[in-house]
Amino acid sequence: MNVLVLNVGSATLKFQVVVTDNDRIMHDQDVKLLRGQIERIGGESVITLRGNDGSTRKRTAPLRDMRSAVDWLVGYITDPESGTGLTARGDIHAVGHRVVHGGEQFRASVLVDESVLQGIEDNVELAPLHNPHNLRGIEATRKALGSGVPQVAVFDTAFHHTLPEHAYLYAIPYPLYRRHKIRRYGFHGTSHRSIAYRFRKITDRERSDVRIVTLHLGNGCSACAIRGGVSIDTSMGFTPLEGLVMGTRSGDIDAALLDYIAAKEGLSLSQVEAMLNSQSGLLGISGLTNDMRDLLAEANELQDRRARLAIEIFCYRARKYVGAYLAALGGADAVVFAGGVGENSAQIRARICDGLEWAGLRVDAAANESLVGGREGRFSAEGSSMEAWVVPTDEELLIARDTFRVVSGAPLPS
Ligand code: ADP
Repeated sequence: MNVLVLNVGSATLKFQVVVTDNDRIMHDQDVKLLRGQIERIGGESVITLRGNDGSTRKRTAPLRDMRSAVDWLVGYITDPESGTGLTARGDIHAVGHRVVHGGEQFRASVLVDESVLQGIEDNVELAPLHNPHNLRGIEATRKALGSGVPQVAVFDTAFHHTLPEHAYLYAIPYPLYRRHKIRRYGFHGTSHRSIAYRFRKITDRERSDVRIVTLHLGNGCSACAIRGGVSIDTSMGFTPLEGLVMGTRSGDIDAALLDYIAAKEGLSLSQVEAMLNSQSGLLGISGLTNDMRDLLAEANELQDRRARLAIEIFCYRARKYVGAYLAALGGADAVVFAGGVGENSAQIRARICDGLEWAGLRVDAAANESLVGGREGRFSAEGSSMEAWVVPTDEELLIARDTFRVVSGAPLPS
């Protein structure tokens, strides 16, 4: 089945074309025909295209809205120049969408119909910055491909539906949960699920046997405690603001600070919230950048004090979460790193693991250094009783596989 995977943002569209089916899933032989992104939709859009031969092309086109962007993309995919081998719109058999918030209602990937659209709409209040764009993407795709092409919604929150009450409830008056659904939802679920699945596969472990802490460290960062294939706790909460230090987000913070900062700085509460989301984290501490690679260069080469501090706080907080989740899980087989930082920075991985010897984790420095640029593997030392791994996340592949399964009626594994 040829699946178009779409991740729609406010002015960006990330995409992949993946060929998958039962056999390919079983033998890990799914094929990625094309991937890329369209940025600055609404103006002179910048299009980046990567073929499966590794080639990269850049284009610009005036794409006034998401509808024009999806139309352009479908036209390109079915053009011989794209190299996909797909020649007609009918060659795109299904479309899988990343949808950020499924609320309490969506516990797995689903075929989009009117009631699902309404359900995503109902959750707009919980994710006002994301769900409206996801809906727009589904609508644009329906117009571009016709309603005969099945579309599947894969939710960022769904993997965390297994959190027990004691992990998802905040210690605030209980009626707030009943009245307004205020609780921990967790995000990055597709990523944590992808990492956990791949870890089981490469280590040949049974689903029921596995206890791991996964760390998705990118621009957004989250930790997840996984036992028996299901999420039992995760660091992002009602919104993606909670938990680890991120590129521009503060992560955990004393809630009383919102009012205090507002009063001291003469800001409204929503301005303070915006500050915590987009001016904090690595950027806020360093005053330089939210980009970990640049920050490491500042810290290592220029000895910038605040760059070093930002990195120190980032690693310390991640290590604290690992410790907390080891307690939640009653110990773990492994800590597994993914995301742009987790997959590429041996230095950050080493610093997070440094001080976890008490938990039986010893790092093999050379193995750690060798795992960059999408390589997967173990970097804990031989005989270390808890392991450390890099397992690159592949959310798009999981979305493509879920789309195939939902459309063909195959069961959905977690
Ligand atoms: P997003 O959350 O937006 O998907 P990514 O997972 O792509 O982000 O991660 C982006 C982050 O990964 C950036 O902070 C970037 O600097 C960092 N990163 C990428 N390569 C490296 C590297 N070699 N060393 C350190 N950080 C890196």
